[in-house]
Amino acid sequence: MRDFLLDDAARRLRAEVGAFFARELAPRAAAIEADGGFPAVREAVRATGAAGYLSLLLGEHHRTEDTGVADPGLVHAAIVSEEAAALSYAFESTIATSLSCALPLRRHATAAVRAAHLGPLARGEALGAICITEPGVGSDSAGMATRIATDAGTGDLVVHGIKRYISNAGVAEVYIVYGISDTDVPAQRGMTAVVVPGDAPGLSFPRSYTMMGRRGCVVGEVALDGVRVPADHILGEPHAGFRVMVGMFNLERILLGGAGLGLARAAFDIAREHARSRHSFGAPLGAKQLIWERIAELSWRLDAAELLTYRAARAHDDGCEGKALMREAAMAKLVATQTAVACADAAVQILGGDGLTKDFSRAEQLYRDARAMPIVGGTSEMAKYVIASRDLPDLHLDL
Ligand SMILES: Cc1cc2nc3c(=O)[nH]c(=O)nc-3n(C[C@H](O)[C@H](O)[C@H](O)COP(=O)(O)OP(=O)(O)OC[C@H]3O[C@@H](n4cnc5c(N)ncnc54)[C@H](O)[C@@H]3O)c2cc1C
Repeated sequence: MRDFLLDDAARRLRAEVGAFFARELAPRAAAIEADGGFPAVREAVRATGAAGYLSLLLGEHHRTEDTGVADPGLVHAAIVSEEAAALSYAFESTIATSLSCALPLRRHATAAVRAAHLGPLARGEALGAICITEPGVGSDSAGMATRIATDAGTGDLVVHGIKRYISNAGVAEVYIVYGISDTDVPAQRGMTAVVVPGDAPGLSFPRSYTMMGRRGCVVGEVALDGVRVPADHILGEPHAGFRVMVGMFNLERILLGGAGLGLARAAFDIAREHARSRHSFGAPLGAKQLIWERIAELSWRLDAAELLTYRAARAHDDGCEGKALMREAAMAKLVATQTAVACADAAVQILGGDGLTKDFSRAEQLYRDARAMPIVGGTSEMAKYVIASRDLPDLHLDL
């Protein structure tokens, strides 16, 4: 059943990228998880970029001879996320965030802005970040307080606002910032997305957070105090940032499908191995009906997550995008991330005391890491809203 939706090239990529991460990421995983783990993340990002695995969606920046994939797409990027998250979700979220910045740049930025940023992002020499969430709004992004005004004299864009919970804050070299540019219309028609270089005057990073999991991935605040960028730093059209955001969310959610699947698989393997090797009341734990049933549930959840994730990725690669892809992307994200939480929780429970300590397995780390997944990239509740709004198109849900 595994890889049911993949063609030979994608299966080959999985084998190669799995071997690559076993060499380049696995030896760094402990350093990433330790306090101050970001330098180890940065090293792994550089190695992954040099190997060509960060350019799979970046068109002319992708070199077939690096990865052997001639016609790469989101199926391939999701495989990279899956294999990476099985070893380190902190590393995976760093590169997935960067890609979620790079792909809108490729699609919507001017040639000059693309030329400045895409090469370094594709090679893993730079990182990207996305700035949507604010102290006052998360799920309700249309209510954001950040303002983007046009300087009538110079035509520059001037950005004021505070963003929080921003992955790669302060360590990224390029930021996509969303703000309201026309307050007289709904945000869907009055939001603009701009590209802000990491060294722009007025850009600062007041704090980074100590998170429950994903240690090694930097998450912090981004303050924009009159940051100025030239008008050609708008992504797409002025006031059309919402469209850019929808495309970005689709990508982020499908990559989260891959990440959820990778983390879930790692947890499942730990749980299954313990169920086979640990004896209790005269038989292996896994032969006890309660444990047997739990393994069965994790197993079907994993298959469902895999099918939904690669269905969404394949739909994207077949040309489905924007609103048409939202439901499939939301389902992939919802099911794969809930599967990750279920598998990590079961791994801890089946290991008993061993599941609670760092001394015997990664179960406790996977448990902490997985918990972020149903919140980042749009919560499970928001994913359900997206799904049901397609099934009940004539009803307007009062969010
Ligand atoms: C580790 C991490 C990394 C992140 N990285 C980034 C990043 O790089 N860039 C970025 O912009 N953001 C990032 N975020 C922010 C993330 O996208 C938000 O946390 C998320 O969208 C939820 O927003 P919130 O935390 O403000 O919660 P809220 O929107 O305040 O929601 C709180 C709870 O209420 C629920 N809820 C809200 N509205 C409704 C409703 N109408 N009906 C039912 N339930 C509802 C939500 O589902 C949630 O469970 C990150 C967050 C974390 C934790």
